[in-house]
Amino acid sequence: MGDTIFGKIIKREIPADIVYEDDEVLAFRDLNPQAPVHVLFIPKRAIATLNDATPDDAALLGKMLLAAANYAKQQGFAEDGYRTVVNCNTHGGQTVYHLHVHLLAGRRMTWPPG
Ligand code: 5GP
Repeated sequence: MGDTIFGKIIKREIPADIVYEDDEVLAFRDLNPQAPVHVLFIPKRAIATLNDATPDDAALLGKMLLAAANYAKQQGFAEDGYRTVVNCNTHGGQTVYHLHVHLLAGRRMTWPPG
């Protein structure tokens, strides 16, 4: 599960506001939300960065993205839209080295990102 803060959330060693869980994916609210809805979708199996994903992880990556889309739809954001983001390493702005998909919704996003 890796030794990151997200690994501790998976093991329930630290609390998180969990909004979705299945056998391979966990989703919880970001501690420092950047939009009215900001949820992180993580694999229960630790993968540090997108660079570390392999073809064997293809289904898992798809599952994370679909879980994010399903949650956004359930919460009523399908029509207005939302954003999903995966930050990778320093230039990508990654700070927690357990792969995660950000789901941001509830406001109009700008482009390009900072
Ligand atoms: P990154 O910058 O790696 O793409 O995103 C990491 C995200 O994890 C940040 O948005 C940050 O606010 C969030 N985060 C960091 N530590 C915790 C924590 O302990 N609990 C929760 N729920 N979110 C966290």
